[in-house]
Amino acid sequence: MTEKIFTRNFHLADSHTLTRYRAQGGYTALPKAFGMEPAAITEEVKKANLRGLGGAAFPTGVKWGFIPKGSTAPKYLVINADEGEPGTFKDRYLMERDPHALIEGMVIAARAIGSHTGFVYIRGEYVKPWRILDGAVKEAYAAGLLGKNIQGSGFDFDVVLHRGAGAYICGEETGLLSSLEGKKGWPKIKPPFPAIKGAFGHPTHVNNVETIRAVPHIIHRGAAWFASLGTKSQGGTRLYSVSGHVVTPGVVEAPVSITLRQLIYDRCGGIRGGKKLKAVVPGGSSAAILTPDEIDIQMDVEGPKSKGSMIGSAGIIVMDETVSIPGALMVVARFYAHESCGQCTPCRESTGWIYKMSRRIVEGKGRKEDLDTILDVAKRGAGTTICAFYDGAVGPYISYIEKFRAEFEDLIRNTTHA
Ligand code: SF4
Repeated sequence: MTEKIFTRNFHLADSHTLTRYRAQGGYTALPKAFGMEPAAITEEVKKANLRGLGGAAFPTGVKWGFIPKGSTAPKYLVINADEGEPGTFKDRYLMERDPHALIEGMVIAARAIGSHTGFVYIRGEYVKPWRILDGAVKEAYAAGLLGKNIQGSGFDFDVVLHRGAGAYICGEETGLLSSLEGKKGWPKIKPPFPAIKGAFGHPTHVNNVETIRAVPHIIHRGAAWFASLGTKSQGGTRLYSVSGHVVTPGVVEAPVSITLRQLIYDRCGGIRGGKKLKAVVPGGSSAAILTPDEIDIQMDVEGPKSKGSMIGSAGIIVMDETVSIPGALMVVARFYAHESCGQCTPCRESTGWIYKMSRRIVEGKGRKEDLDTILDVAKRGAGTTICAFYDGAVGPYISYIEKFRAEFEDLIRNTTHA
């Protein structure tokens, strides 16, 4: 039986209210955190082995430690609630069903890094989560849980909700910060990293919703407990967004030691209609695709990596035997071509050309040389761009073709233009 952390209140109709959150034990980690030194809070999060649950999986406590100490200049805490990775839909439920847990986590994180202003950058399409979170923020202010001298602690912290306009690249942290400043959501070259020069030129820490949502539990029940729920490389449970051809798609909470096979067959009822599994994307659309013989892996940071993929945002897209992999590649390629911000030549040009070639193949006009051209273009561009967007796009481009080459070749061979 999975110990529930993130979804423990999801079944309650009024789980978004302050009254219910408090009745379930909410806001009890906060006074404990106020009684701790900021460095001790960070140390606890490090020991809990909490990793970023938005995509990069960087150790959270270590990242908190990058914010300079001893300066009186403003420091900002920014929550990435953009959740634009295709196949990923768990943060929206955290904001809709347990918004006070995010607020409590933000106050604790802010105390740890010495920030007095926090932003939640929430994707524009998330109207309902934004409304509910906005209501929770107002409740927290009215109850003295945000604002000046929170719970008599002497600590001040304000939260500002900022709605995005629906650009995938605003999920990349420097693109997000540019957008937050009112500019185009263009990523910036690093260094300087946001911890040194982030929002409005000040030290800024960025974490996603789920990551910060875990913090009250770590402070309340201790780092050792949280770490013990996971594996050597990562503590805790996490949320997996499972979509595609399973019997019961949805958001699943499980310890990170769960295998991909268990997630698909035990937690989501297996493949719909008794069909065979053909392929699965383990960590959002940027993750390299896996074949059915590659699903006996733990779904922590290391498991998908051992198969050349990544856990990413833990967005699992399951494809049954009826799926056309060339068709799936075309859809993914269209997405990246559309969402490239266009600053870097390799990304701007290659995403467009790869989409055109993949579409040509699907439309029956593919050429024998297209597959190697896509692989060549994808591999040359990797690692040459401002942000990780293009490296993320390369994952599907390469893996779909390398693992299902025969299907692409059959399609090309069986067309009049081959
Ligand atoms: Fe923009 Fe792509 Fe360059 Fe990232 S890699 S900055 S998305 S052009």
